[in-house]
Amino acid sequence: MRPSSSSAGWSPPPTAHPSNSPNPATRVPGSCSTSNSPKACAESGACRPGGRHPEGEPEGETALAVVETPLVETVLGPVAADELGDVDAHEHVFLRTPVNPGDEFLDTDKAADELLRVAASGIRTVVDLTPVGLGRRPGQLAEVSRTSGVHVVAATGFHRSAHYPAAHWARHADDATLLDVLLDDLQVGMDRYDWDFPRPLPSPHRAGIIKLGASYHRIDRHEERWFAAGAAAARDTGVAVAVHTEVGTAAHAALDLLDRHGIPAGRVLLAHTDRNPDPELHLDLIARGAHLVYDTIGRIKYRPDSVVLDLIERMAEAGELGRICLGTDVGRKSSLSAYGGGPGMDVLGRDFVPRLRRRLGDEAVETVLRHAPQGLLAKETCAA
Ligand SMILES: [Zn+2]
Repeated sequence: MRPSSSSAGWSPPPTAHPSNSPNPATRVPGSCSTSNSPKACAESGACRPGGRHPEGEPEGETALAVVETPLVETVLGPVAADELGDVDAHEHVFLRTPVNPGDEFLDTDKAADELLRVAASGIRTVVDLTPVGLGRRPGQLAEVSRTSGVHVVAATGFHRSAHYPAAHWARHADDATLLDVLLDDLQVGMDRYDWDFPRPLPSPHRAGIIKLGASYHRIDRHEERWFAAGAAAARDTGVAVAVHTEVGTAAHAALDLLDRHGIPAGRVLLAHTDRNPDPELHLDLIARGAHLVYDTIGRIKYRPDSVVLDLIERMAEAGELGRICLGTDVGRKSSLSAYGGGPGMDVLGRDFVPRLRRRLGDEAVETVLRHAPQGLLAKETCAA
């Protein structure tokens, strides 16, 4: 029998997944090395999301000819970014956290039910931003993706520290172990038991994005170490980094910290920015290159959806819609239709998108549901 949800006291070994693992998958070589990071590539103009580093290629137009189709890692394997369709950029398919006791949702059939509703609303891809230790179910994620026909991009990484009890291994593991865990999830396959088992066992389903978290108005010492590990893993793999901001605070600090670790703002998605619906702040963050995800859509206890429509319109007027993504982040059982709650994960496609289309038109909808998230999710590949 598996141990309880508490992983207190267990530390994953430094080489997380044993080489004699039953999973035939092995880590693929890092596509963006530390010395050839996305930032370095971006600054040199030598590569772009999904493009191969044109090393050895002649200068000029010929070099661009080697650019390949940008790929996104989903739980069922790589998918061309432009085949993702409309993207909901912040969800949780399964979640269990001590922050919301009694509101966990871990049922596979209900997850499939919820995703079928999402599919019926027109959304084709869901980005599941559940990080390590909070109830990830790699095998079941793949199963509900197949059942529903919805692409699922899964996350690895660490949430803000409030989600991890004092004895949780993630607070005490050394830096090399933290990085190993993330790279295993990204390059081999997410741990079958979400790193909550005496013997790690990789699944064949890889994560496709890194999730990090900041506290209210600050980044604490644990979060700082998890940012460092997440940035290193992003440099090695070319995936994007999503950051939970608490009520939209500490967003500049998060960009500063990631930048110090070699991740440019252009590879960062700042979550919950609409919890602080301050358009001047949003434009400042976008001016640094960041993407924002407005992800409290349908959760009216925070504010009416018209506030988010106003924000999107303001970003459109500034010509910055290409930096805006949308999601609902329904992180509680009581928010999911399959459990008899509301507004349901499908509220984005079902209720909000028609309002956005009426207000700003088809092109704006396509920009925030397709172009912005697809570009961000595409892996930067700079391998020679
Ligand atoms: Zn979330």
